[in-house]
Amino acid sequence: MPQDHGFPRGRRGIHAKLNSTSVRADPTPCKLNIDEMLDLAKPQNQTANSPEICSYSRWDSKNYSCAYDAVFSILCCIWSTNPHKWNKIFRGLNPEMALLANGFQKLLSGNITLEDARDRVRTQLHQLDNQKFKWGTHGTAASDLAYMMFKKNNGAEIWSHCNTCQLRTQGFGDDYMYVIDSPTDLQHSSTSQVLQAVMNQKQHPTCNQCNQSTDYGLQTPRLIVFHIPKHKGILDKKIRLKGMNECNTVLHLRGIVYHGNFHFVSRIVTNDKKIWFHDGILTGSNAVVEANITNISDDYLTHCKGKIIALAIYAQK
Ligand SMILES: [Zn+2]
Repeated sequence: MPQDHGFPRGRRGIHAKLNSTSVRADPTPCKLNIDEMLDLAKPQNQTANSPEICSYSRWDSKNYSCAYDAVFSILCCIWSTNPHKWNKIFRGLNPEMALLANGFQKLLSGNITLEDARDRVRTQLHQLDNQKFKWGTHGTAASDLAYMMFKKNNGAEIWSHCNTCQLRTQGFGDDYMYVIDSPTDLQHSSTSQVLQAVMNQKQHPTCNQCNQSTDYGLQTPRLIVFHIPKHKGILDKKIRLKGMNECNTVLHLRGIVYHGNFHFVSRIVTNDKKIWFHDGILTGSNAVVEANITNISDDYLTHCKGKIIALAIYAQK
């Protein structure tokens, strides 16, 4: 049966890897927060019909699939907003995400179902780790799935800035930096605060030039996942991340995975700000509109039909 447990795999130091791969970067001014500009420039009606192309995955009663159904339905909705862009991003993360994107592409062409796309990735995950990703009725932990799907092979891109000698560098952190594994003492914090605290807890990279500790951050992440079991704090609708030269990346809340009674379900936030509920058993290949994200109470998203938060997924638009 699925348990939502996590492993402290995201807490590794990033010092050695940054030092060996960093390059000098020009301290040129930011291109006027390009993500925010694009966000503002987007016509309102451009994304209004996004729910029609979202697909939702049905639960497999022989090979319990609820963790996959919940996470992949959210990823499918993100992918379907711009398949060309997201194919590239998914492929850049790891082979399992690349295979999932390939499955979504086949789904769009009508060649396979979302359940087929899911099971192709399940097969590959099972080959990689047949204990965490079992067939049958054992269930899979959503956190284990998140670590595999949001892993950035060869390291997440980070920037660093030395406050002593002002050297700015770009480099690579560890492979799991897009998985934000929240400590339990931050259960009542907002997701922005969790992200900041988790980044501060990691060992800061050392400056190549003067050996002092530097400020650092994620460089334009496209997709991150919070592993925040039993989280009770606010799930920010938007998270702004400071980049090199003050360029901001804006990540939007796109989905939440909930856990309870040995089952995972999800809520999906579409570009038209609607919140959809999906349960691979109850709603199957459909989802149900629940609310609009602009007029919900602060604690609305912290629980869902008696279930508690397991994961929250944020993505760029
Ligand atoms: Zn320095």
